[in-house]
Amino acid sequence: MKTTFINHEQLCEITKRYPTPFHLYDERGIRENARKLKQAFSWNKGFKEYFAVKATPNPYILKILKEEGCGVDCSSYTELMLSEAVGFNSEQIMFSSNVTPKEDFVKARSMDAIINLDDITHIDFLDKVAGIPEIISCRYNPGGDFTIGNHIMDTPGEAKYGFTYAQLVEGFKELKDRGVKKFGLHAFLASNTVADEYYPALAGVLFETAVRLKRETGIEISFINLSGGVGIPYKPDEKATDIIKVGDGVKRAYEDILIAEGMKDVAIYTELGRFMLGPYGCLVATVLHKKSIYKEYIGLDACATNLMRPAMYGAYHHITVMGKEDAPYNHKYDVTGGLCENNDKFAIDRMLPEIEIGDLVVIHDTGAHGFAMGYNYNGKLRSAEILLRQDGSTEMIRRAETPEDYFATLDFTAC
Ligand SMILES: *Cc1c(COP(=O)(O)O)cnc(C)c1O
Repeated sequence: MKTTFINHEQLCEITKRYPTPFHLYDERGIRENARKLKQAFSWNKGFKEYFAVKATPNPYILKILKEEGCGVDCSSYTELMLSEAVGFNSEQIMFSSNVTPKEDFVKARSMDAIINLDDITHIDFLDKVAGIPEIISCRYNPGGDFTIGNHIMDTPGEAKYGFTYAQLVEGFKELKDRGVKKFGLHAFLASNTVADEYYPALAGVLFETAVRLKRETGIEISFINLSGGVGIPYKPDEKATDIIKVGDGVKRAYEDILIAEGMKDVAIYTELGRFMLGPYGCLVATVLHKKSIYKEYIGLDACATNLMRPAMYGAYHHITVMGKEDAPYNHKYDVTGGLCENNDKFAIDRMLPEIEIGDLVVIHDTGAHGFAMGYNYNGKLRSAEILLRQDGSTEMIRRAETPEDYFATLDFTAC
């Protein structure tokens, strides 16, 4: 059975202070997991995790990760602003953007962030708008299918990101001519992968590419960024990634490919989002209505604007009816929100205990790409975010939106 980090009694106390719906985060889980990641890569002197801000863009969360030694991976102007406000600077910031506006590059350069270029034409563009820094990274797209054994993990050939190999060769030479002293290589080839082989296989591709680049251009890569993509077990029967095993697998590839080539000081970076936060957040909602027509429906006070993944990808999120963990799972429900969109369903044909109006429901694994993907369709307001501290106390780390927030960009007097 899949359990969550909060029990019914604690949650009843919390909902006395904060009305549902809200996202709840577990500080203890976040810290323990971050430490385990660090341990998994402790064999690499320069290792650093750059948390993908887009997954959970909240300064309190970023601050916890900063205390655990993480940097940040930003992709936009506002994510840079947020990271700056939390106190991240220069080499603690990776800027991995694409289709990048001028203002974003100017901002990233003003903060001395590490820029990870998405395209060869961005060399000229960056040079023109903000100048070329001494440290730079390029994103690689090997094209074709990315396979592990004979299993296709994803199809980089269909992805909009990165340089081809030929462009890497040309781009790195050009960057060297323009004064770059330190080079990085990045690739993101598969998303939400719980297979322990993913990072080692990706590392293999990047390490071999770094060796080839060195042989063909003489340029030595200083850091290799494995980016994000390490998954979490959303479903009860899925196995969690064994991050220690993953770290060992990357180490083996490092020794076989880089050390064998005399490249002993390459730092390993990661840009994990989902793995860092996903399991350490949940969406808490209350049952507002029950409806019985051709199917049985449970209507929550949360909807797809609070958690888009089920509606957008058909993603599975486990649901626990709090206080009924041990009751028989003998009712089949569609668990829905109130959007005027039939895809606003957190679960379809889910077997659950019998649900009553007023029951508290926890939707698991919303700590990453949960609140962050929220939107305002149907005039729905974004929820609060609450942090469960290690001592059991709670802190509101973002208040819920009000109608005033929703209308803030309109000027009624001018219409
Ligand atoms: C989204 C993203 C990440 C984080 O991805 P996860 O699947 O959350 O680990 C890392 N790097 C880049 C460039 C991204 O776009």
